[in-house]
Amino acid sequence: VLAAAGVERRRARVLTPPRPVAGGWHLELEPGGATVAEQVVLAAGAGCRALAPALPECHRASWAGVLALPARPTLSPGSASAWWRHAARRRIVQPRHWQRPGLERAAPGLGQERWIVDAGCAPWGEGLLLGQISLVRPGLDTGEPPEPVAMEARLRQGLAGLDPLLAALPGPYRQVPVAFGSGGLPLVGPLPGAAGLWVFSGFGGAFAQVPVLAPLLADVIAAGADASVLAGLGVLTG
Ligand SMILES: Cc1cc2nc3c(=O)[nH]c(=O)nc-3n(C[C@H](O)[C@H](O)[C@H](O)COP(=O)(O)OP(=O)(O)OC[C@H]3O[C@@H](n4cnc5c(N)ncnc54)[C@H](O)[C@@H]3O)c2cc1C
Repeated sequence: VLAAAGVERRRARVLTPPRPVAGGWHLELEPGGATVAEQVVLAAGAGCRALAPALPECHRASWAGVLALPARPTLSPGSASAWWRHAARRRIVQPRHWQRPGLERAAPGLGQERWIVDAGCAPWGEGLLLGQISLVRPGLDTGEPPEPVAMEARLRQGLAGLDPLLAALPGPYRQVPVAFGSGGLPLVGPLPGAAGLWVFSGFGGAFAQVPVLAPLLADVIAAGADASVLAGLGVLTG
């Protein structure tokens, strides 16, 4: 779809915050050197703050970790628990009450790091994801990755409350930083005082929100549509 629309994709890291220059924004890319773009959308998840340090404080990041099994467990008739059977049959298991949104809402007032486990599983290609542990630190800096051995042990402890057999599966453990909005709203729109620089990040339910919001933001940028349509959908604009 993108190629048919004439979109050229480049894989590179943006090294420093975009700098305003004549004709748009100067981007320092690695690899690829410098480039200038008329319009720039920051959609770098937890990497957004390094590119726009003045982002509102509601834009924060957590560390999320899962066990990423390359193959799903096989059924051993009779002995398997209900949760094991769901996992083996490629069903998604989610908590009835998620703890992550509460942790994210509490983020601005945290005096020390806090973590929770929302125990569940989901098919992942031929494999299985078991998760998820979420860790939030005080302040706006994502910081260094949390100690993986301790994080994995906490995750397994949380999973054991669901099913000790699933909790004992081998792994490996993987963790990534994930952006969120502490008020529960994503940040989608222009950055104040920076014409041509936009932000698109901090989703609480990206799989549902992004397909709706991305075309709307594109219409605002490329077709001059009224940006208030975004605010009307419950997002924070810039
Ligand atoms: C285990 C797990 C399960 C999840 N399950 C769900 C789910 O079921 N439903 C749901 O809606 N959401 C889910 N999420 C959340 C969802 O994955 C995120 O909300 C979503 O990925 C956010 O998309 P994004 O593009 O804004 O940021 P990201 O996916 O974080 O992507 C940002 C990208 O920007 C890149 N980047 C960062 N800095 C730079 C830079 N300086 N230069 C160039 N590139 C840069 C990063 O490498 C990354 O590729 C889950 C997350 C995790 C970790």
